[in-house]
Amino acid sequence: MSEQHYILVINCGSSSLKFSIVNPENEESVLSGLAECLLLPEAKISWKYQGEKQQTALPQKANHTDALQFITEQILTHFPELKQQIKAIGHRITHGGEKYSQPTILTPSVLDDLSALAELAPLHNPANVTGVKAAQVAFPHLKEKNVGVFDTGFHATLPPQAYLYALPISYYEKYGIRRYGFHGISHYYIAYKTAEYLDKRLEDLNMISCHLGNGASITAIKNGQSIDTSMGFTPCEGLVMGTRSGDVDPALLIYLKQKLNLSTQETSDLINKQSGLLGLTNGSSSDFRYITENYAKDKYCQIALDVYIHRLVKYIGSYAVLLDNKLDAIVFTGGIGENSELVRRLVLEKLTILGFELDQERNLAARFGQNGKITSDQSQHSAYVIPTNEELVIAKYTASFI
Ligand code: AMP
Repeated sequence: MSEQHYILVINCGSSSLKFSIVNPENEESVLSGLAECLLLPEAKISWKYQGEKQQTALPQKANHTDALQFITEQILTHFPELKQQIKAIGHRITHGGEKYSQPTILTPSVLDDLSALAELAPLHNPANVTGVKAAQVAFPHLKEKNVGVFDTGFHATLPPQAYLYALPISYYEKYGIRRYGFHGISHYYIAYKTAEYLDKRLEDLNMISCHLGNGASITAIKNGQSIDTSMGFTPCEGLVMGTRSGDVDPALLIYLKQKLNLSTQETSDLINKQSGLLGLTNGSSSDFRYITENYAKDKYCQIALDVYIHRLVKYIGSYAVLLDNKLDAIVFTGGIGENSELVRRLVLEKLTILGFELDQERNLAARFGQNGKITSDQSQHSAYVIPTNEELVIAKYTASFI
């Protein structure tokens, strides 16, 4: 068997750790899994090797280091060759601030900077740093081979007119208050794949990328670069999401805080955890499948769907204008973008004014991991479904360091 080079890709949340062992050359993920409910009594881990799934409980309140230790000592001991062939570890890091846009080796001083950025991403960066430290413990021989890939990185090309809020400019200068954008790893992958699909150079590509998952964002890409994106200072801005409100009048929060006597934490929970699809369905569900199954019979689901589509179409229209009449494609990705023919159909039906003509047969066929064009051959512009693959981007960038 020839010597392979694998990359372990890690994506840490506050109570979860997603991992994947990827061969960046043939783009295959050989082993992947998810540790969930970390720090809770019901901590557990599941993994998949060559299509076969397994799951087990972790010790109660297992943390990220325990989860990684389980991966090295329990799972990988069954695959000693694979373990040996892991040559580096790539981490998804949510926020790189203005300093880190390119993939970076995670030295102690970089980790210090990322911890300081926790002020801008309190829910994500501390968990990311925890994941890096846990990986350094579990794989001590790879300590200098931990690479960070930043979810804000692709949006480093936003021009000031797109990233500045119309607040006193000193807030930007003193505190870094600006729009950063997120989901950059996914939007970059979609741009790269679309260029491949259209047989164009990335630097000649003009497109709109719609990442519609539990979190959702949309990006205008001009000459291969992000020029505007819907998430802002935090991932809460922009589209309607599973539990995040997306755009709301900022003065509304002041009003609600006073009227309902909400604490800062309660206000944050309101817009991040209780809004979006969950809020619009009167607390029924944040899951788009629930909307799909019930919109014909449940008025709240119908309203949620209407608001979701309205907001999305509004963003697409305004981003099309930013691309100076050079729109090569709209691409849908993420759990909803890849699977919901309903959302894609309703959006494209509203976009006839921009020269899109849906091909419903193609739209129905493009589901469950299928790539494909969903507009007709007569359509002036094309729309595609392309499943995202953030792990592959992280693995490829990380491999470029070894
Ligand atoms: P993600 O965060 O990318 O995993 O996407 C999760 C979202 O995708 C959830 O709202 C799911 O309900 C939605 N989703 C997954 N499969 C489908 C489907 N077949 N139809 C509609 N929505 C789906």
